[in-house]
Amino acid sequence: MGLFRRLTPLGVSAAALCLGLVAASPQHASAAPAPPKTLRLYVLDCGLINVNRAGTERYNVTPEEVGETRFVVPCFLIAHPRGTLMWDLGVVPDDTIEARARGEQGNPTATSEAVTPVKRTLTSQLAELGYKPADITYFAISHAHTDHDANANLFAASTWLARPAERAFMWEEGNTRVNRTFFDRIEKSKTISLDRDEYDVFGDGSVVIKSAPGHSPGHQVLVLNLAVSGRIMLAGDLYHYAQERTLHRQPPATEFSVEQSAASRVMIEEYLERTKTAIWIEHDFAANAKLKKAPAYYE
Ligand SMILES: [Zn+2]
Repeated sequence: MGLFRRLTPLGVSAAALCLGLVAASPQHASAAPAPPKTLRLYVLDCGLINVNRAGTERYNVTPEEVGETRFVVPCFLIAHPRGTLMWDLGVVPDDTIEARARGEQGNPTATSEAVTPVKRTLTSQLAELGYKPADITYFAISHAHTDHDANANLFAASTWLARPAERAFMWEEGNTRVNRTFFDRIEKSKTISLDRDEYDVFGDGSVVIKSAPGHSPGHQVLVLNLAVSGRIMLAGDLYHYAQERTLHRQPPATEFSVEQSAASRVMIEEYLERTKTAIWIEHDFAANAKLKKAPAYYE
């Protein structure tokens, strides 16, 4: 950086060419962090949703049964020796968080009374780890509901790992379960279409996206195999409260398909048991409170 600053623009070009750094320029001098030697999972804070009694009971549990009714909204960064993956992208877009910090409204469709926006943007949390959104190799969402993809547009330059059924749902005419302003810029992003049940993101079995439809048409979960922490499933919205699982409650009537959700739960429970995988229910407030948060990580 110091060297480049003392050079004229012509000098920069010449120096960059000599060094084989044609793409480098002073404003892009901060490179992404070197890939880690082993897989890492970072837990980022992407917001909080307040849930009233009716909102809790929708999941066939009561506030008394669950204790804490609020939903956390985590985002996850997976750093692999061969690249990075962002999994689930928040409930309020960064530009609206920034607008609100300036006393402005931001995207008028981006918040509701139930949503307590996170104070820090996803971009700033990535920057703390040394990444810019454009450094991220892949992004994927468990599903396209508005509390999982608010920052999709940030990753338009990355490769989208997309399930065709969810993609169709996202641009379906009259779909009120999504907010297209959250993801309109990824429509033309480079995309890998996940047309099989399982997709091995980095080719070594350590990061696998697995189909688990029902909550939405193309709902999916992410299975990680970490060297120290072992096998962890980021389960999207397969469940919202741990008690739905322990008390064996039926999926909510508001699922895209209750029947598919029930079948996915049976399939996933069998998978967790067979593969000795721990489940992380993403909105689980109490479980999330105990997790290490970025810049700490699981490996
Ligand atoms: Zn959700």
